[in-house]
Amino acid sequence: MINLQPIRKNFYVPHPVVQKRSQHEVDEYRRSREIYVKNQAPNPIQNFSEANFPDYVMDSIIKQGYESPTAIQAQGWPTALSGKDLVGIAKTGSGKTLAYILPAIVHINNQQQLSRGDGPIALVLAPTRELAQQIQEVANEFGHSSYIRNTCIFGGSPKGPQARDLERGVEIIIATPGRLIDFLQRGTTNLKRCTYLVLDEADRMLDMGFEPQIRKILEQIRPDRQTLMWSATWPKEVQKLANDFLNDFVQINIGSLQTSANHNIHQIVDVCQETEKEQKLGTLLQEIGNTLDPDSKIIIFVETKKKVEGITRTIGKYGWPALSIHGDKSQNERDYVLRTFRTGGQYSILVATDVAARGLGEYKEEINKQINLEKQSILA
Ligand code: AMP
Repeated sequence: MINLQPIRKNFYVPHPVVQKRSQHEVDEYRRSREIYVKNQAPNPIQNFSEANFPDYVMDSIIKQGYESPTAIQAQGWPTALSGKDLVGIAKTGSGKTLAYILPAIVHINNQQQLSRGDGPIALVLAPTRELAQQIQEVANEFGHSSYIRNTCIFGGSPKGPQARDLERGVEIIIATPGRLIDFLQRGTTNLKRCTYLVLDEADRMLDMGFEPQIRKILEQIRPDRQTLMWSATWPKEVQKLANDFLNDFVQINIGSLQTSANHNIHQIVDVCQETEKEQKLGTLLQEIGNTLDPDSKIIIFVETKKKVEGITRTIGKYGWPALSIHGDKSQNERDYVLRTFRTGGQYSILVATDVAARGLGEYKEEINKQINLEKQSILA
């Protein structure tokens, strides 16, 4: 048993304004930004100066010209800077990379400097090379002013340059799990100094079958490290990973859990002119009809009742018999349409307004999620 030197993880000095905010104000701010918090978390900050970052971090934020923290940053920074373990359920694009990189920089600058042969202080695990490289760009941009070195470790490219970076010593490693294990087994690096661990896109890493590798890596890191886990969704497998490897964590959800993207759904967005829609729909139905199995079903959501009728007629002309449903139809009619759609037969297409989604039984949750996602992306 090795005697571990205690580590310092809490660097948060709350701004007096943040500390003085009433619970009502805090709740109101969280509600307005759709921040949901489980377990005791510090008050969110509402602008950059309230984060009380050291000047070298503040300077790099100012350089970017950002106006205000994103929701995950507002709640994530004070939580992460306090040294707490954290689960963040937030989508890509929410500013989550900076939510964990800036506290990583503060954490690193408060640890003993690396000596020869030391491994990294912060480790970020990511599912893909692309994501790892995007994270590295952020680490480069924001770590530069305090001379924090990093390297990106991923499979499918020569090991030589990556090994040389590791041997020279880096404060941050951003890695995909397989290649990192390779280097750990060869002794090119080690995780004895690692006290800040990030699992980015944890749900995707599990989807890609990385769980055994993740577990193998995490077992090599001291148990009193700070761990931050990020995911777009919160399925049972991700919850288990969090429960197994995080201590007494604060969970932060941005937006409703119901609107998290489903990885099994491939979404294609085609932005086109109103006049092109009819022809595009015909082509799409043709393609889908040619490639999908005969039992598959198609639901076309449109905005108005009139459009439902129009599109049902149009695709009927193309030789695609379709059912239609909207709020003007009687309950009996709606039940009949849904029953017929479910049982299949000659009708595999349903044209509907989103009001109808409420009656779609087993499809309901999935459809509502998709509608919400679409609305969010349209509003964004
Ligand atoms: P991420 O979710 O980390 O992939 O970040 C998505 C994008 O948001 C990146 O291009 C960041 O540069 C940008 N970003 C991060 N934080 C902020 C902020 N506070 N204000 C505006 N943009 C930001």
